[in-house]
Amino acid sequence: MFGKKKPEVLIVGAGPVGLMTALELTKNGVVVQVIDKEWQRAGHSYALALHPQSLRMFKKLGLLDKILQHCYKVNTIDICDEKECKATINLAELKHEYAYITAIQQNVLEKILEDALLENGVKVLWHHRLAHLTHSIDHANVIIDKLETDTLGYIISRTEQVVTKSIRGEIPYVIGADGHYSFVRRSLDINFDPVGDTLNCAVFEFKTDIDLQNKMALSFTEGAANVMWPLPNGYCRWSFQLLDREASQESRIKERYEVQIGTGPYAELTENYLKEILSKRAPWFKGKVEDIRWRHIVRFERRLSDALGKNKCWLAGDATHMTNPVGIQGMNGGFLEAQDLTAAVIKSLKEKESPELFAEYNEKWLNQWRFLLGLDGRVETTAKTDPWIAQHKGALLSSIPALSEDLKGLLGQIELSI
Ligand SMILES: Cc1cc2nc3c(=O)[nH]c(=O)nc-3n(C[C@H](O)[C@H](O)[C@H](O)COP(=O)(O)OP(=O)(O)OC[C@H]3O[C@@H](n4cnc5c(N)ncnc54)[C@H](O)[C@@H]3O)c2cc1C
Repeated sequence: MFGKKKPEVLIVGAGPVGLMTALELTKNGVVVQVIDKEWQRAGHSYALALHPQSLRMFKKLGLLDKILQHCYKVNTIDICDEKECKATINLAELKHEYAYITAIQQNVLEKILEDALLENGVKVLWHHRLAHLTHSIDHANVIIDKLETDTLGYIISRTEQVVTKSIRGEIPYVIGADGHYSFVRRSLDINFDPVGDTLNCAVFEFKTDIDLQNKMALSFTEGAANVMWPLPNGYCRWSFQLLDREASQESRIKERYEVQIGTGPYAELTENYLKEILSKRAPWFKGKVEDIRWRHIVRFERRLSDALGKNKCWLAGDATHMTNPVGIQGMNGGFLEAQDLTAAVIKSLKEKESPELFAEYNEKWLNQWRFLLGLDGRVETTAKTDPWIAQHKGALLSSIPALSEDLKGLLGQIELSI
């Protein structure tokens, strides 16, 4: 269909989860094709940290050294209110080889993954959009539109995507890593209902003059969650939960250009606004604000699909779940679920059909997300839990950058158990 070798797996979406899935499959000898409707990778940092478990996974994929060249290591997490630091979590206490978090821009991570795929002989087909999907018990049928950007109009010009060719094919497996508005999920008639409140955040990335001391800081102030991530080259990212406005659905669409000119479309996000919100919510942050390179207001809904796939079509990443952004659990959880999904696909293709592995995948990850989204299970306190920490235990579950056993260990340091 696409080249000399017929793909065994079509991966729809070249975001971080789709690229990582493609690499894992390729390294296991599976012939893949990755398509994305956009013309290139993301332009900004978006989900900007890798959890310890993701680092172990990238080590196995042979990419850890490259990641370490472009990241800022985070060793501790300060948990604060508007006055002071109330508790500190130390990642080194995880006591395994990669007991730290790396802050790395999502666009940089996507480039590392795309380059690695290319080195393994897989070229992402940008500007290719999945336009039609049907499935049966033993294969999927797809129509893929090849797109081109055309400039239309004479006096006022505008650009539009034009379909130059439609490609039809039959594929053994389709993996939908096509983000929150997943075409694959919609084609499978899988619901994706809201399961909690929407969080709206103002996000700023700027250069600062202080040593950020390999710490991230979480702060909870008057009902709002705020987070500071240190980034390479003296930059940091502050995100502030907004209680007085709703961002649009479109705010979740990834921009593809890296440079933002002036305030971009966010005129209200001025330097003064940033300084004011910092002085109210984190007066303990003593860094100067220099060179604001990105500002945004973004909507984070909480949603979960009611299944992770059907027959030969399966989902991973934002296509199945949308979560609170603070702990970067969405993308990192996406990597872990994609690892389980690829194991099921590899076994089914190379050894024998294993529908039970897909059923396990479905159950394991739906349960995991139900827990992380606060729908099932609870965070418990102990006799020693600080009352302020106890008050924020629900928010802490989704704000600590870790999952499963690591999350358990880190929450344990502040006397919370899961
Ligand atoms: C402004 C902004 C800020 C963010 N900040 C944070 C944060 O602080 N913390 C956090 O955890 N997360 C954050 N996120 C979310 C984070 O970017 C996502 O969780 C992550 O990108 C999910 O990766 P993914 O690979 O699952 O999907 P995506 O990165 O969304 O990739 C999906 C890809 O599929 C492609 N696609 C869609 N439909 C089709 C189709 N029909 N055919 C072909 N291709 C298709 C899209 O073009 C896209 O490239 C932010 C997102 C935005 C937009």
